[in-house]
Amino acid sequence: MNSKPETRNQKLEDLGEFGLIERLKAKLKSNDPTVAVSIGDDAAALKLTEDKLTLITTDMLIEGVHFSRANFTPFQIGWKAMAVNVSDIAAMGGKPQWAVISLGLSSSLSSDYIDHLYDGMKALGEKAGGIVLVGGDTTSCRDLIISIALLGSVEPELLTLRSGARAGDYLAITGTVGDSALGLELLGRSSSRLPLSLRNSCEELIKKHLQPLPRLEEAGRIVKSKLATAMIDVSDGLAGEAKRIAEASGVGIRIFQDKIPVSYSLLQICAHLCLDPLKFALEGGEDYELLFTFSPEQQEEVEAGWGASIIGQVVSESEGIKLIDRSGKVQDMPGQGYDHFKK
Ligand code: ADP
Ligand code: MG
Repeated sequence: MNSKPETRNQKLEDLGEFGLIERLKAKLKSNDPTVAVSIGDDAAALKLTEDKLTLITTDMLIEGVHFSRANFTPFQIGWKAMAVNVSDIAAMGGKPQWAVISLGLSSSLSSDYIDHLYDGMKALGEKAGGIVLVGGDTTSCRDLIISIALLGSVEPELLTLRSGARAGDYLAITGTVGDSALGLELLGRSSSRLPLSLRNSCEELIKKHLQPLPRLEEAGRIVKSKLATAMIDVSDGLAGEAKRIAEASGVGIRIFQDKIPVSYSLLQICAHLCLDPLKFALEGGEDYELLFTFSPEQQEEVEAGWGASIIGQVVSESEGIKLIDRSGKVQDMPGQGYDHFKK
């Protein structure tokens, strides 16, 4: 007899990363009263004390998947490994505080290399308000693996989830999108082929890929003003993260193409290399900007001083996730997120 499709033993290339996470969510479901937020948001939230929620998240960088040692200095690998975790705590409205670091290391690496890896982690940790590195694990491995578990805290009233968006809200994003993905693309090309006038732009984009700066301060300001109804950090591309807010909140989202903030550097270089800036802006990952929804009553506040751009609207779930192109035509949203497993 055939088993139901959802219980069939599926290959990960068919199930996909997001399908796998949905399965894990069901499998690991618990009614433990200390768990306020479990699988499905940027970090889990635990009720360990009366006044604050403890946040916990983990993210791993693997050589050959997330970085190459030819492009990244050890300082940058350490920095980025910490930055991606801080970004998840920021997206919950929290303050990052303690980290444990697990390393897979090849015996050919030197102690100076490891020192620089830690210098990068500590530098980002200091920038993020003083993260204390309190332990970890070390094992031998052919390629370099760095996995950080980061703990933080948030006042319960400031906790901001992916699931709070409501039809009628507006959608906004900090900074610009697509820069990091274009920076990665440029790392794979020889910058000496670019005209001198584009070299600074090229360096700027590459730096965004190598040493991203999570939006911790902006997140703090956003949650303290009680602005956001939902928030997520953009690690897997704008389109994919919009989909995650939509799914978690049970809503639809429309994004206006001409409102998506892209840098002048991205436009210049895309024009020169005949690349599509929209593809980078919607699908490019690792910008670590904050995507959030808010009530239209707060439009002026967002426009005035948040360094954020209003890019879309939250609509009913039945309307789906759409891109409104420059001519006003409604399209299905292209490129809804990078999947580690899908063919
Ligand atoms: P982010 O991009 O914000 O880091 P992910 O897409 O990696 O988020 O993860 C989504 C959710 O799935 C998170 O709540 C995360 O804790 C959970 N998750 C991811 N991988 C696993 C796993 N192997 N086991 C349990 N939970 C997982
Ligand atoms: Mg995240």
